[in-house]
Amino acid sequence: MLIENISNILKKISHAAMRAGRSPDEVKLIAVTKTVSVEAIKEAVDAGLRIFGENRVQEAQKKIQSLKLEVQNSRIEWHLIGHLQKNKVKYAVQLFDLIHTVDSIELAEELNKQAEKIKKTQRVLVQIKLSEEETKHGIPEENLMPLLEKINELKNLKLEGLMTMPPYFEDIEGVRPYFKRLREIRDNINSLRIMHYALRELSMGMSNDFEVAIEEGATMVRIGTAIFGERSK
Ligand SMILES: *Cc1c(COP(=O)(O)O)cnc(C)c1O
Repeated sequence: MLIENISNILKKISHAAMRAGRSPDEVKLIAVTKTVSVEAIKEAVDAGLRIFGENRVQEAQKKIQSLKLEVQNSRIEWHLIGHLQKNKVKYAVQLFDLIHTVDSIELAEELNKQAEKIKKTQRVLVQIKLSEEETKHGIPEENLMPLLEKINELKNLKLEGLMTMPPYFEDIEGVRPYFKRLREIRDNINSLRIMHYALRELSMGMSNDFEVAIEEGATMVRIGTAIFGERSK
């Protein structure tokens, strides 16, 4: 089951990339494991997956520890894809290779401070809020510049790109403009040389819309349900 799901998704990733004239290996699959058991994650590792995404620091902490004992020889990456509270930052920098959800100057400063304490360069993405939805986290586009300038000054953060969560649409095509917009923002940042280095990553696309996201330039797709099935919780 799991193996079939994964091979289906990899096929779809390849096809979507090729439709857009891109190489399939520009797109990383992040298996989203919130509410998924350690056993199922281990199966996914056995099936070849190496990057896992969690929403909550506490839930991730337990899983990462128990999985470490189970699979010692595979280099596994953990990504935080959910909103990060300031009081969890200390743990987040210990656990995660990449944090997708930086959305304020305060959070960036705290991440830098905690990363510095453990002598780590923390890889991060900035989450941008492209819709008016009250419930969505992320920094509004008009506040982005000051955040980027701040991150430029923070020695223990390495900004690799941008992330977004578009609103839900019945018709998938409704999300396309959001994905396109995120790519434009990244390309603008790069052509204006706002950061000391070029941003590469675009974390966008989930189970129901990852193919559209890849057509629009996604370099990381975050997929849960299509791999592990419907979440019970
Ligand atoms: C849960 C979640 C996903 C995966 O969603 P699916 O629809 O199960 O693929 C992706 N990104 C974030 C931020 C999530 O919280």
